[in-house]
Amino acid sequence: MKPLRGTVHLVLAMTLPIVASAAFDPAREAAGIDRPVPGPGAALESPVEIGRARIEPGEGATVRPLWAGDRRCGVLLEGPLTLRYRVDDPVSAPVARRNARKASHLHAVGDGKRLELVEALEGAVLWGWELPEAGGGTSSEGELPAWARGILKDPMFPRPSEELLTARALGGRGLVYGLLHGSRDELVLLVDPITERLETLGVVDKVDSARVVDRGRFTVEEIAAQPVGRRWWDRFPAPLVAVDEDLRVTNDQDEHVVVDATMKLAAARDGVGVWRTNLMDRVVVRSKVHPVTIRSLEVDGKPAPYLHRNGDLLVFLDPPVARKGGTVTVHVVSEGPLAQRPRGDSYWSLGTWPWYPQPGLDGELATVRIRVDVPEELTPFASGTTVSRSSKDGRNVLETRIDHPVQFPVIAAGRYTTYSDEKDGVRCEVASYVFGKKKACRRLIQNFFAAIEVYDRLFHHPYPFDEMNIVEMNTWGFGQAPPGVIFITKEAYNPLGSTVSQLFSQGVNERFVHEIAHSWWGSLVKMDSLDEQWLTESFAEYSAALCLQIVSGNKKKGEREFRKLLDHWKAQTAMIGEGGSIYLANHLAMHDSADRMDRTRLLYSKGPLVLHALRLELRRKMGGEKEGDRYFFALLRSFVKNFPYRWGATRHLVGILNQITHQDWQPWFDRYVYGCETPKL
Ligand SMILES: [Zn+2]
Repeated sequence: MKPLRGTVHLVLAMTLPIVASAAFDPAREAAGIDRPVPGPGAALESPVEIGRARIEPGEGATVRPLWAGDRRCGVLLEGPLTLRYRVDDPVSAPVARRNARKASHLHAVGDGKRLELVEALEGAVLWGWELPEAGGGTSSEGELPAWARGILKDPMFPRPSEELLTARALGGRGLVYGLLHGSRDELVLLVDPITERLETLGVVDKVDSARVVDRGRFTVEEIAAQPVGRRWWDRFPAPLVAVDEDLRVTNDQDEHVVVDATMKLAAARDGVGVWRTNLMDRVVVRSKVHPVTIRSLEVDGKPAPYLHRNGDLLVFLDPPVARKGGTVTVHVVSEGPLAQRPRGDSYWSLGTWPWYPQPGLDGELATVRIRVDVPEELTPFASGTTVSRSSKDGRNVLETRIDHPVQFPVIAAGRYTTYSDEKDGVRCEVASYVFGKKKACRRLIQNFFAAIEVYDRLFHHPYPFDEMNIVEMNTWGFGQAPPGVIFITKEAYNPLGSTVSQLFSQGVNERFVHEIAHSWWGSLVKMDSLDEQWLTESFAEYSAALCLQIVSGNKKKGEREFRKLLDHWKAQTAMIGEGGSIYLANHLAMHDSADRMDRTRLLYSKGPLVLHALRLELRRKMGGEKEGDRYFFALLRSFVKNFPYRWGATRHLVGILNQITHQDWQPWFDRYVYGCETPKL
């Protein structure tokens, strides 16, 4: 990766300590970086190139160095400039074209494979430790222009300091964060060759004035994302991966919760001086913001410097983890009103969001122990195998453990009545909110066991946990399946009840078996990035269709069930607008409801449709229906067999297919999974 190909000089000799010194104060350092002081200006005569961005000076453009204390941290460009942003990644280009058209005023030129986004700029601030030397002297005065200060006052996205401090503590080079002041749009550019190895260009937007909380704060909508020095489908684990977690959760009273988390982290590279993770820093209740705060934070038993804001937590490691494979233990105690009961109901859940210091998808592959301590009127549930349940002194305590690595374990507690059953060593517990609903719970248990038997037969791997907790959420219309738990709304418990229930129960069986399929596609084979989300959602959806076909009782009825879903996928896929790449579904700008609906259509309709097309293609190429299906299921089984409790990836699917068929499947995936084409069925 060549991060900077400026025609101006590079400061290459700058030495930066990776290790945080004893006096290291992250908040002060961050403030210095986010409010740098400009030095004397000089004429900007040559274009500045950062990643795929080229900023060309116009008549009278100037450049000034930016100082964070006595460290140079970037440059300020002023005067007429032209931004030319190259989108040369063929997977990225169609998505960028759509986003640019919908969410920005950027002028897009070029064909479907290559694109240039052009905008006239009035100024730009570029942060980076190795940016071109500019201006002269060390005297400095003043501050950033008002437009930049406005954006950085309280943005809902990471500020330059978080990126620069991370880059420095990882000892990486070439990271650049830019704010660009266009004539019509303000843009954020991040070139990150160090952690995600991705560069993104986004447009700054303001939170809708109709919303009470965060009104007027700045957000960013993605326009273009492109891999840096890699292909889209090649990924690298995060610098630190959580390999073991001990989570102690106490709901002492009302909504108040203390989360005591001990995280063992393993380095996936040499010289890691920071752990960047997610930890929510607030709870919004009825338009009021309540803080979630850190009570204590220790690294290997000693207090350590950290920065916690905007849901981002940076823990600085001194000394850094020197070698790949080395470990460090971080202990974080946080507290806040996490036990929010929806609309005054008597249950709460700590779901898949970062209620504990939760790494990104590529940073968590952990065995877990959970202890939940709640008031006696509540029954607690948690991911994992029950170790013990006890009631004492007005408290209910549950302890669980998960011995196979998982991501995002969850907890729930409430006024539940539970029913359970056991079969072949698997315990299924169904929790019904307030009222018993015994018959419905028994039916769910029965359906669960029927479904896991089908999936075991299809994928040649048994249900991957000893236990499943199905917990009713007292609302309508959703389901979610973190490891060993299904949160599902009340129509699943009473599909023949009220009119509302009937409305929502359309497809409730489908949703239920979809959630169960996530035990294979999500919990067993995991995704390490949202780019791989089709491996969980589309695979679960396709599995659900297979399951319904099999359990329906007879061949004709089964085919009808499958056909119904297939027709639904086709109809939904036909409605997807331009830039419909399954792989980049989460890179739509999410500018409006059409973007959000297309994301859903890509992952829940086009994805399963493409899987079905793959099956048909295998039948065509490998000698008929029977043979083709043999290959199709061999692919799924081999995928499960090779990546149990691990990260699987689309490139592995291609690899397995190539191996078992002795053909090259990359072009097929380039068209239908990475690219935007829809296969003809
Ligand atoms: Zn799902």
